[in-house]
Amino acid sequence: MKQEFPHVTHCLTHQRPEDQTSMLGLVCVECKHRLYAAPPSGNRRSFWESQPAAYSLDRRPCFVYTLMWDDFRIRSLHAAESVVDARSPLHAENSESSPPNLF
Ligand SMILES: [Zn+2]
Repeated sequence: MKQEFPHVTHCLTHQRPEDQTSMLGLVCVECKHRLYAAPPSGNRRSFWESQPAAYSLDRRPCFVYTLMWDDFRIRSLHAAESVVDARSPLHAENSESSPPNLF
């Protein structure tokens, strides 16, 4: 089966597609297991990393959206076309929920 990469984020911690539904939204299967088996503690923070972690074939930057707790972190690699993360609680109106624009 062909992987629809532009529509699926990838977990950089586990190198897996984030195609599992959880209380947070889509996460990878190993992150999902961790979230349910040992829920992370502390406040959840979320942000786009300032530097792209990869580039698309046409050399556009692919940014990483991070969800961070005191003892756990999910790093999601987005496709270059992606400018919002559905797990961001304020993604509709908060500029911090968009990737930084380097250009
Ligand atoms: Zn993961």
